[in-house]
Amino acid sequence: MQCDVLVVGAGPAGSALANQLARAGFDVVLTDRKAFPREKPCGEFLSPECTPYLAALDLQEPLAALGPRLVRGMSLHGHGVQALGRFRPVGAHGATAASGFGIRRTRFDQLLLDAAVCAGVRWLPRHDCLALQRDQRGRVVGAELRDAAGAPQAWRARWVVGADGVHSRVARALGVQRPTPWLDQFALVAHYADVAPRATAEVHLFPGGFFAATTVDASVFSVNLIVPRRTLRDRGSADWDQFVAGHFDRAPAFGQRLAGSRRTTPWRGIGPLAYTTRRQVFAGAALVGDACGYVDPLTGEGIYFALFGARALAEALGAALHDPARAPVALAAYARRRRREVGPRLWAAAALQRALRHPWLVRAFLQRAARWPALADLMVTLTGDAVHPRDLLRPSFWRCFRAATP
Ligand SMILES: Cc1cc2nc3c(=O)[nH]c(=O)nc-3n(C[C@H](O)[C@H](O)[C@H](O)COP(=O)(O)OP(=O)(O)OC[C@H]3O[C@@H](n4cnc5c(N)ncnc54)[C@H](O)[C@@H]3O)c2cc1C
Repeated sequence: MQCDVLVVGAGPAGSALANQLARAGFDVVLTDRKAFPREKPCGEFLSPECTPYLAALDLQEPLAALGPRLVRGMSLHGHGVQALGRFRPVGAHGATAASGFGIRRTRFDQLLLDAAVCAGVRWLPRHDCLALQRDQRGRVVGAELRDAAGAPQAWRARWVVGADGVHSRVARALGVQRPTPWLDQFALVAHYADVAPRATAEVHLFPGGFFAATTVDASVFSVNLIVPRRTLRDRGSADWDQFVAGHFDRAPAFGQRLAGSRRTTPWRGIGPLAYTTRRQVFAGAALVGDACGYVDPLTGEGIYFALFGARALAEALGAALHDPARAPVALAAYARRRRREVGPRLWAAAALQRALRHPWLVRAFLQRAARWPALADLMVTLTGDAVHPRDLLRPSFWRCFRAATP
């Protein structure tokens, strides 16, 4: 049981990475502890900047064939105020990046996985990664898996990649995972039917949390509630529907959106959400996607980070596999690229989370965004990933932003 690269986790990061490495001619094994299609608690919104990454994997047309819903912006609600922000086509990819998509993760992740298998990836569903194997010098040389029947399997690999999500066992085994106690959140997600579809994602802010929702596919309404984990302790005997409805008085516009609807899937929860990792590259191993650390559900950027990271890591591992002497330089370049692209966005998302704790600040922002649509567009375009926070320092960006019509 040997391969060039063992990728643990078949979410967007793992499947996209495995696909690119297999296309480059390497022997790749992709493993997930679940059978696919599998559910993943998510807002199910693909930001506009995902599009070029999907196109590079030849997935734009297959994705379109699945009939995802176009998402043209985000409506922001809170404190009785509503503001509408639209994605402006200002990124490197221009008009093609002016809308995102709403699509169920069961279908999207399956699409990515099928493409990886078509590219020649060996797929091991229901194989749980239990531990990493190391040589005498501490280099990671493989992993121990448990197959669907509960039997142990030892895999040797030149590289092992942890793409196993926010509670990454690979990151834990590498000893680099750290919780972020101040951001100790919990998310509940479910699908609803009979909610009037909209061409925008929705965020309904209230003190201490928010609802996020998107119409996905033809008419499924994907609902997320994100609250501090400690609120769960105060739930008492309330069931999940009562617990969620208990927040409607603080987000009445969202309560009205759900009036007359019906829930079609059970509530699924995930938390704590907030982790960071001290390092992402190691001798014989690397991390990608959520395994590198927490992504705030508020800004809906995790899938973009997963696709970006997968491409950057595929390039680095390609170089390392061709010429092992270059591995440290190539992997360090991946870590740097990731830090430059993702770091400021994570910082901005964390700053947003801190701002949410000050209702007066949220109200003041929403009031201004409602009055000046350009401000709402800017905020939403930033979270749509077409613009990097550092672009805000460039005069050319502002010229382009003013000229771009939503
Ligand atoms: C409530 C919520 C809402 C969100 N909404 C959005 C949104 O609207 N848009 C957006 O872009 N992002 C959103 N995100 C973030 C997004 O879901 C993630 O960033 C994205 O799924 C990361 O992809 P990934 O491939 O890194 O990990 P995942 O998609 O989590 O995939 C990891 C895979 O690893 C597998 N795995 C785990 N442990 C093991 C193991 N030991 N052995 C083998 N396999 C294992 C899991 O089964 C899973 O299939 C949201 C996140 C949350 C929590």
